Amino acid sequence: MNSSRSTLSRRHFIQAAGATAAVALATPRPLRAQANADVIVIGAGLSGLAAALVLQDAGLKVKVIEGRDRVGGRVLSYRTLPGSPEAGGTSFGPGYARLINAANTYGVGIIELTPVLRYYGQRELFLDGQHIPLADWPSHPRNPFPEGARETPPWAFAGGLMAKTNPLKTTDAWVDPTNAELDISLHDWMKRQGVSDEVIDLTYNIEPTHGNSAWDVSALMMMQVASFIAAQRALAKPGQSPFLTAEGGNLSIPEAMAAALDADIDFGRNVSAIRSDDGQAEVHCADGAKYKADYVICSVPCPVLRRIRMEPVLTGAQARAVQTLDSQIINQAHMVSKSPFWEADGLSPNMFNEGLVCGVVGEHKGDKPEEVTSITAWIRGNNAALLDQIPEADARAAVIGDIERVRPAAKGQLEIVEYKSWYRDPFSSGDWAVWKPGQVSDFAAAVAKPNGRIHFCGEHTAVSNRGMEGAMESGERVALEVLDRAG
Ligand SMILES: Cc1cc2nc3c(=O)[nH]c(=O)nc-3n(C[C@H](O)[C@H](O)[C@H](O)COP(=O)(O)OP(=O)(O)OC[C@H]3O[C@@H](n4cnc5c(N)ncnc54)[C@H](O)[C@@H]3O)c2cc1C
Repeated sequence: MNSSRSTLSRRHFIQAAGATAAVALATPRPLRAQANADVIVIGAGLSGLAAALVLQDAGLKVKVIEGRDRVGGRVLSYRTLPGSPEAGGTSFGPGYARLINAANTYGVGIIELTPVLRYYGQRELFLDGQHIPLADWPSHPRNPFPEGARETPPWAFAGGLMAKTNPLKTTDAWVDPTNAELDISLHDWMKRQGVSDEVIDLTYNIEPTHGNSAWDVSALMMMQVASFIAAQRALAKPGQSPFLTAEGGNLSIPEAMAAALDADIDFGRNVSAIRSDDGQAEVHCADGAKYKADYVICSVPCPVLRRIRMEPVLTGAQARAVQTLDSQIINQAHMVSKSPFWEADGLSPNMFNEGLVCGVVGEHKGDKPEEVTSITAWIRGNNAALLDQIPEADARAAVIGDIERVRPAAKGQLEIVEYKSWYRDPFSSGDWAVWKPGQVSDFAAAVAKPNGRIHFCGEHTAVSNRGMEGAMESGERVALEVLDRAG
């Protein structure tokens, strides 16, 4: 491996990872010659690619295998639509040091969303099929919020409450056993703050970010989410938004990372079994392909991992993690509109809706900030589960019908170009990991434990970061684990 690129990325990596990493990176040793590679990485999402590049830069022979026919995993930009809107990892913040470093190292431009943020911030409220102007909300009969909070729109109350009352001081404190008493449902925690069931239902259950309702998610996990968001906001420069995307769509980052690998990625390799014995690790794929290496890094999320046979079998808390840590159910419909129906009814295209489609977003991804380039409908939780049970054509029709019912001006205007169910995707079986009440204390410390020669990474194993940066953090951590052993 020649290249100023590898020298540069190693330098960056060492700066980021500190002295332990520096020692490990300096002392790789060649591993077993008869294997396909020193390390097989399963999954060409951000975590797998990050791990592969660190190992490659350290001099190891790495082979990445991937079940899909593309890289990126849960990062997916739809190039079939104007502005390449995101169906997966949507935006990142200034504290995504590893992701931003990867973009810089591999030549991907970064777009700052400040000029368009105000358009994303304008949201129309629809409850019970009716539009409620925000000016009417404080005195509206459906407003259950207490005095002092009656102007808060439903979508902002839960996050605001968590931001104000979050007891966690750092983004990694959620896995500290001393905080285990907070590993209760978000619902119970909000009740402890004096919030009524009616408020919880309106502010969380219509548009649940984690789980199908506030009953499903650990308050401790939501506190980490709040800490992580606060950290991103704190790092934004004055006057700048804490939201960034990549030029060409966020998929450009994993694509550029993949292009920097020495060995081609093997696509279409659906891993069905992983074995580790005293001397070697083996990966078996559904098509009969077999790989051997000294170590395997597995980046697949738990709902997929539980379908992969593993030897030795996982036990105890780690087995419970793989069998029970589920991922958020989210569907998206990416649409174009024949005419700007939002100009016809004089409202923003963006919606918070007590319906099948809980959120509608007008994308602003063109050259002119004010231009709406496409429309994204978000369907979450129980509603997404419902759509997953009917044929996709019916689900598409149901999405359009739901929007048209509350926005008559949209009638006959919308065309779905791309429809995505993350749950029905066999290589994801959902979106981000949702830690249920009690799960953080039960198995956060065990989820990423090596199993013989099999090591684990992925967003669900991250400690200090979330989402795309969590994936990058986990890729770096697992590469160091393997380097420590290989050295
Ligand atoms: C709708 C949506 C919105 C999001 N928004 C944000 C956001 O705004 N900000 C943010 O930071 N994050 C966001 N995320 C989360 C972020 O995209 C993910 O956390 C991150 O991309 C996960 O990376 P990963 O490497 O851990 O997993 P993945 O990307 O899932 O990578 C795992 C890889 O393994 C492969 N694989 C799985 N099973 C097998 C198998 N059996 N055999 C072979 N290969 C297999 C998969 O195809 C995949 O490529 C969002 C995600 C979604 C879906």
